[in-house]
Amino acid sequence: MRDMPRVGVGTDVHPFASGRPLFLAGLEWPGEDGVSGHSDGDVAAHAACDALLSACGLGDLGAQFGTSDPAWHGASGPALLTETAARVRAAGFEIGNVAVQIISNRPKFAPRRAEAEKVLSEAVGAPVTVSATTTDGLGLTGRGEGIAAVATALCVPVAPV
Ligand code: MG
Repeated sequence: MRDMPRVGVGTDVHPFASGRPLFLAGLEWPGEDGVSGHSDGDVAAHAACDALLSACGLGDLGAQFGTSDPAWHGASGPALLTETAARVRAAGFEIGNVAVQIISNRPKFAPRRAEAEKVLSEAVGAPVTVSATTTDGLGLTGRGEGIAAVATALCVPVAPV
């Protein structure tokens, strides 16, 4: 069973925090409220990292990078993704793809989807697709309290693990 592909799942949520720049899906979004968080608060990138780590049995962002590790304080989403992908490959996996869905009222994502997918795919070294949805006004994202993202990843063992 060692060479069967493995899927992973990741989720992230950060609350809006006015006065901070917004970083989402590897892009900066001028004119949009940012979110609070230890790093840049890029929920799409963080969910993607957790999905990759989940697929490979490497725990999660907290286990890998720690919220107290100053080396990663303020790290960008793409930087975390690049390092996560390196750790995944070092653990003996190749990355098939990552799919991310952003759940939020704003920003309006579709006009920059291709740009975001390019940045995140380059960070991972494999295809990353990004979609976006709203929740019809329901829940924390529907009330405009924050941004959420979920992600899945497919990884294939290429060496004994
Ligand atoms: Mg996060």
